This record gives sequence, C-alpha cells and structure tokens, in this order.
Amino acid sequence: MSKSDKSKSNSGKTKKKADRKKDGKEMSSQPSVTEDSDQKTTWYSDGLRFECTQCGDCCSGEPGYVWVEEAEIAAMATELDMPIDAFERKFIRNLGFDKSLIEYSDGDCILLDPKTRKCTVYGARPIQCRTWPFWDSNLNERKDWKATCEVCPGAGKGKLYTFDQIEAARKQKSV
Ligand code: SF4
Repeated sequence: MSKSDKSKSNSGKTKKKADRKKDGKEMSSQPSVTEDSDQKTTWYSDGLRFECTQCGDCCSGEPGYVWVEEAEIAAMATELDMPIDAFERKFIRNLGFDKSLIEYSDGDCILLDPKTRKCTVYGARPIQCRTWPFWDSNLNERKDWKATCEVCPGAGKGKLYTFDQIEAARKQKSV
C-alpha cells in the first residue's frame, strides 16, 4: 500500500515530486519532522495508534506514486518469482530518473489483487507502503495526523506505537 500524498487524498500515494515542491509539501514545510525530532517537544511524543484493517484503501483512490528503488524492485520480483527486468516491464513506470509502481486508471495499484483487495507482494512491499502511516507528511502537525485518520480507518486506533518506533519508520524514507 501507500502512495502519497495520502494524508490529503485517500491513499498511500505521493504526488509527483515536482508537485509536492509546488505545494510546499517538501523541503520547507516539513522541517519539524525531517530533522531529528526531540521527543520532549514533538506533538506525538506519547506515541500514536495504528492497526491496519486491511481495507485496501491506501492502495487505491486518487492517482499518485509509490516510489521504488532498485533494491525494492528486486525484492518484489523475487517475491513473485520473476526476473527483475520482466517485473520492471510489467509493473514499473519511469518518471524521469525515478521509478514508481504502475496503477490502473481507477487508481488501484497494479500489485493490488482486484478480487481479494490484498497486496500481492505484501512480504516484500516497498518502504513507502511499509512505513504508512508514519510519514513526514502525516506527522508534520497534529492536524496532518487528524487528516490521515479520516482517510485510513486503521490510523488512530489499535496498537500503540512508541515515539521511537514511529521515528524508526518515518526515517526510512522521506514521504
Ligand atoms: S486500514 Fe489504513 S493502512 Fe490498512 S489497508 Fe486500510 S487505508 Fe491502508
């Protein structure tokens, strides 16, 4: 799952990097969580709750991007027992120097099983999907997390993640 700018749409996709800059969602608007956050002053210092309901909404919805690196592509290809080049031809789109998973015209991720609504590479899903909803863009301010809870039925409920666990996820990739 998880394309971005998911906190504002209904998915875990990201907007194109250029669009994010234009919207002010990269660089200057995210400093409070892109640097080493101080637990004492961070609004989520007591942790946040999240438990995925497996609804699949974050793998669909408005158009967006699941950015992937070579190692992530290789892991997904292995998961599907496919050669990397065949996997890339079938599932990856090139956007300048960046690569993203292809999605269908209705916004579904190409790796989302249309019948079961489950991820077909779940065990090797990309970092962007793996770290949802603990993304910079969702954690920047309390209102961003509130917006995330409105689009993801698992956010704000269930298992309590500590500040350190949230930070460990957030720092894996800037989304
Ligand atoms: S509960 Fe949230 S994280 Fe889980 S599948 Fe639904 S939208 Fe995605």
